Amino acid sequence: MENKKIEPIIVLGSGIVAGLTSKMLTNKGFDVIRVINKNTKALNKIFAIAPSSMTWFKNIGLSEFLINPNYPIKKIDIYYGREQESLRFDSKDSYKDALAFMVKEKDLSEAIDLSLNESAIKFLYKNEIIFENHEDYIKITNNKEDIYSNICLWCDSENFDDVYQHKIKKNRKDFCQQAITFNFIKDGDEINHAKQYFFSDSILALLPISENEISVVWSCDDKLADKLREFDDESFIIEFKSRINFGKQLISNFGRRSYFPIKQVLSEGLFDKRVLLIGDAAHTIHPMAGQGLNLGIRDIKSLEELIKTTKYIDIGIKGFLRKYERSRRSDTQQFSKLTTSLQWLFSSPNNVIQEINREGLKLVDNNRSIKNFFIKKATT
Ligand SMILES: Cc1cc2nc3c(=O)[nH]c(=O)nc-3n(C[C@H](O)[C@H](O)[C@H](O)COP(=O)(O)OP(=O)(O)OC[C@H]3O[C@@H](n4cnc5c(N)ncnc54)[C@H](O)[C@@H]3O)c2cc1C
Repeated sequence: MENKKIEPIIVLGSGIVAGLTSKMLTNKGFDVIRVINKNTKALNKIFAIAPSSMTWFKNIGLSEFLINPNYPIKKIDIYYGREQESLRFDSKDSYKDALAFMVKEKDLSEAIDLSLNESAIKFLYKNEIIFENHEDYIKITNNKEDIYSNICLWCDSENFDDVYQHKIKKNRKDFCQQAITFNFIKDGDEINHAKQYFFSDSILALLPISENEISVVWSCDDKLADKLREFDDESFIIEFKSRINFGKQLISNFGRRSYFPIKQVLSEGLFDKRVLLIGDAAHTIHPMAGQGLNLGIRDIKSLEELIKTTKYIDIGIKGFLRKYERSRRSDTQQFSKLTTSLQWLFSSPNNVIQEINREGLKLVDNNRSIKNFFIKKATT
């Protein structure tokens, strides 16, 4: 175990990225102070996790049993409209076991909590502290006790105003869309085969999470989402079934629907003084590619690598933070550009663009090296 600590590191946030960041830091021998929100709770999402992230979970000591990596996605079919033009990504084509693994937020959260060495972590509530960010130190005052730190890793995407206090400029894009998520049960054979449909008013992803259960992420423009919100269960299911094709297989047991507003938020810089943004706090992207959390995990891996390979004792110093910022720029920009462009292309009502999309899908489908390029991007 390495030990470069001089003061505890502050990790602010209640989500998965804050938990994983704390785990990585305690593994490296740092003491951690977690600043959490009092009244937040997990959103019970289901994540498609890249194989490289699953390997990293194992390496940092998360229980394989709890995060249940038994539901691999081996193939993904992409449809333009109602199953006319399609494109297949197959893990076999790239000599991989899977393109992604489906993991429940609840299981991942539990695995992180269990793995953390509580003795190395102190918890404070955000509404009970006074937070100060200075050039040379971070100061937290809690019940008249002053705590000093070199750095605060800010992993909370919820409170934008706080981030503004730290003068980090953020570019926001509202897609005017909402993601509707729910699960259902399908009869028939076990499936490891995901499907994603691009319609002009929505993008619908079907992701198997067990032998016969499927998780749905349906990203709808506001008009469709508002219409679907008004529907009773029966009308909703009729509309949903009209978009997909399961042949004669029975689908049933539709679960509760959750709605998430879809936005893109990208920070121009990643730090101000000694506050460093990590995860969705630094980059929130469209869920269509299932890459938001994977990007956050790659943030933590980069940080881990820099702690390991550089000689900084004070990791809140500008030289270190700049190195980190540079290491994350291209990955984050590539994924945000990819999701914004795909969203724009596939929702276009323009006939010429629609024709280009059809031809584009055929072109990619017939070209192994382009497919391998996309698979490599999504799985590492
Ligand atoms: C519909 C949808 C589907 C998605 N699917 C995928 C996917 O398949 N793969 C992928 O990589 N990314 C996916 N994402 C993106 C992913 O959800 C985010 O990138 C990820 O959750 C960011 O984590 P964070 O800790 O940085 O976010 P934060 O913003 O810090 O966490 C979210 C907020 O949720 C609350 N919270 C979360 N967990 C807890 C907890 N355990 N206890 C208390 N409060 C909690 C807190 O309020 C916290 O502020 C999806 C996003 C959406 C909207």
